[in-house]
Amino acid sequence: MTISRMEIRKRDGLARSGIMTVHDTTVKIPAVMDTERLFPSLMSTRLSNIPLSAPEGFVRSYSVQNGDQPVTIHPLLDNPAQSGDCVMVANWHTAFHQPRNYVNWLVVLKEKTPPDTTWYAPGVALPANAHILIYTGFDFFDFRAVDLKTAQGIFCTPEGEFPKTMMESGICSCEGCRTGSLKMHNQTALLGEIALITRFIEQGQLRELVESRCRMHASHVAILRHLDNRFTFTEPRAPIARGGVMQVNSGESINRVEIRRFAERLTSRYIPPKTDVAVLLPCSAKKPYSISWSHRRFQAAVANRAHELIVTSPLGLVPRELETIYPAGHYDVPVTGYWDAEECAVISGIIARYFARNRYRRVIAHLEGGALKVAEMAAVACGITLEYSCRDHPTGDEALANLDLALAGELRIKDNRLHGMCSYQFGIDLDTRGFSVRGRFPEIFYSRNNVQCFSIDTATGMLRPTIDGWNLIPDGYRVTIDDFVPEGDVLVPGVENADPQIREGDEVLVVGARAIATGRAALPGGEMLRSRRGVAVRVRKIKRV
Ligand SMILES: [Zn+2]
Repeated sequence: MTISRMEIRKRDGLARSGIMTVHDTTVKIPAVMDTERLFPSLMSTRLSNIPLSAPEGFVRSYSVQNGDQPVTIHPLLDNPAQSGDCVMVANWHTAFHQPRNYVNWLVVLKEKTPPDTTWYAPGVALPANAHILIYTGFDFFDFRAVDLKTAQGIFCTPEGEFPKTMMESGICSCEGCRTGSLKMHNQTALLGEIALITRFIEQGQLRELVESRCRMHASHVAILRHLDNRFTFTEPRAPIARGGVMQVNSGESINRVEIRRFAERLTSRYIPPKTDVAVLLPCSAKKPYSISWSHRRFQAAVANRAHELIVTSPLGLVPRELETIYPAGHYDVPVTGYWDAEECAVISGIIARYFARNRYRRVIAHLEGGALKVAEMAAVACGITLEYSCRDHPTGDEALANLDLALAGELRIKDNRLHGMCSYQFGIDLDTRGFSVRGRFPEIFYSRNNVQCFSIDTATGMLRPTIDGWNLIPDGYRVTIDDFVPEGDVLVPGVENADPQIREGDEVLVVGARAIATGRAALPGGEMLRSRRGVAVRVRKIKRV
């Protein structure tokens, strides 16, 4: 019997914040608490403490399922948990010693357990590891690990552990430090760190916090890298867009799932406009690039006589039409002029894949420095020959005059932002004849026969189709509902089917026998089908049929 439930307020990858209810007690998650008060059966549960690396025969003969919450799960056991359950993974502290297994076990456990369960890791949370535990999908913890540190005379902070004598050094001024209680300090430090992590989940910047926190522990960096290598596991769980700026400040940033997803879609879904002349341009600090001073000058020189492709770290290549789309319009990266070897290898690889798939008669490099270097590496790799309109100072008058001259006699191409965005976002080759454009970039509205079909969402930079717009998207991104007219958001129990390519935050069309509706997915398509409760689609407009 399910005795608990969870209401998610905000998700970011595997991390969630929200409210968990157990019997009559509500707890804000992520949380640290006296778990035995919440789950009295923990006091009497025997043999839930099976090592993660134990052999299968041992695990099967000793595991006990008594029907109580939390439900013990183990990488080698069949999943006994149902939607709404609290699940417990014992001995998770030992996984930190084996980063590769940490990720292997995590993936196995997450894939076989319903997504709408809350996750408890007993005896493991410390101020220094809470970030990675929550990032990898654990929701609540107890004070056991910090209390053990107290017994050992260890002073805990998010940055690491110190001897108890550090309490008097002024590092912390909590009540525990003021009154000489190490136990109170260590518990307060854990509570404070979890409150901070919750804030970062809510502002969509947990990854940035984790990249910063993990620097103090080799095992945390290793876990992050192993998890980034599990793209097919992490990608469906990552939101399609976030609010705010994506800070790309560490060596791990280039492996972020959003960055790899952008490159994957660029080299698989995206359809470029019909032209055979391309110009490679440098990026700008201001986003979207078009509103920057340098890009206004580039665009004036190009005058629509070539397809504009922006060479940038870490995304690789951003076609002009995709410049608003998350994360192309939302990243910040330290600009030093130096591109390291891994950056060059990854980015030239993306550019080479793009040009191997999309052939042009002429590719003009209007670049300098690292961007020029990666373009040249890519040209060699995919067997194309670059022309050069400059090798330094691309915004200078001379370089721009050269660019203008290089394009003399080339035909003007039509603005086809809508076509490019539709191919990237919905995987379709939209016929954009007859469309008119109004609005002030980047807030653009696309209409046909005076009927609005699409607009660009200025927060995510993605397209927002109206119901008339959805009529032009033949399939995909649909959520099928039962025979009812939704009143407000569509909830999980009402969902009959959902396209598995839907990601959290995607624009979707809700289709039912009695109504259709536009809205935004609150869950990935796969999780709409694997969950039992919660909001599936935040509805914008409903039309009875
Ligand atoms: Zn303190």
